[in-house]
Amino acid sequence: MSEVFIRESDLDDGPTREPLLEIVDLVKHFPVRRGLLGRQRHVLRAVDGVSLQIRRGETLGLVGESGCGKSTVGRCLLQLQRVTGGEIRFRGEPIQQLSERALRPLRRHIQVVFQDPYESLNPRHTVADILREPFFVHRLPVDRTSLCELLATVGLEPDALNRYPYEFSGGQRQRIGIARAIALQPELLVLDEAVSALDVSVQAQILNLLLGLQARMQLTMLFISHNLAVVRHIADRVAVMYLGRIVEVIDAEHIATRARHPYTRLLVASIPAPDKALPDSAGDTATEMPSPMAPPPGCRFHTRCPRAQPRCRVDEPQPTRAAGDAQQWYACHYPEDV
Ligand code: SF4
Repeated sequence: MSEVFIRESDLDDGPTREPLLEIVDLVKHFPVRRGLLGRQRHVLRAVDGVSLQIRRGETLGLVGESGCGKSTVGRCLLQLQRVTGGEIRFRGEPIQQLSERALRPLRRHIQVVFQDPYESLNPRHTVADILREPFFVHRLPVDRTSLCELLATVGLEPDALNRYPYEFSGGQRQRIGIARAIALQPELLVLDEAVSALDVSVQAQILNLLLGLQARMQLTMLFISHNLAVVRHIADRVAVMYLGRIVEVIDAEHIATRARHPYTRLLVASIPAPDKALPDSAGDTATEMPSPMAPPPGCRFHTRCPRAQPRCRVDEPQPTRAAGDAQQWYACHYPEDV
């Protein structure tokens, strides 16, 4: 099978819809100091050259182990953290250098749902207060009827308006968080481990709610999770992240059968049966991911990779388009056979 070598920043992830969001060579480093006023001693390379596109109306899953930098990507594109380098374009316009004042109107169109709905909802506010907040911030009128319609959209009854977050279950609180996020009809919804704190049956309900909302509102979604089984359920495409870098992008429906990168195979193999579709030999699950303060040279996955060769320790693999699939690329010198 012949393969096409490409530059990661040239990737367009397919010819179909225009991208709503483009991330080009994104870098986010954190200085690590000793003590409050100590000198900088290390650099934590949380995100180290990530390029991605999210097309209008699609759901991109961003998956990887805890500490791989996936949530930092989300926070950078939400402008909750200033980037160290690279570019973030929303509707084709760079946004990473905008002032807080210039960002304010943009925030209406990019909303987020975090993992812990209890922490992200003010416990002293009623649900009505919580849902009014985005309208208040953007100086938009809203009446009680609209708030009831918003609640109905996420499957909650109107009497929820007068109650407080602690009166609801975890799944119901996440529905309130989603209602607040979609209140102003955003174009892009970032979901950062949004179902990770929920029981499996409740997870499924929330995922189905999100799929319904996406279809109804033509939402574009970035779904960040450590759980590939969940990501596969909701995403159109999956970007696999390891130690600050994207190592593979692939259609969600093909990830179990056509993944080429050994780390993607490791993640697929770790999905509990009956979802399992690849053998258990994908990699070393016993060792820990190296520190992002001292990423290994060459291929960052070589310390855990069952296919590693001497070249992998010195030569960093570049993104390579999979033959016959415009949607898929991977960064590996010795990819797995399909
Ligand atoms: Fe494994 Fe080498 Fe591929 Fe890295 S480049 S994933 S070490 S085979």
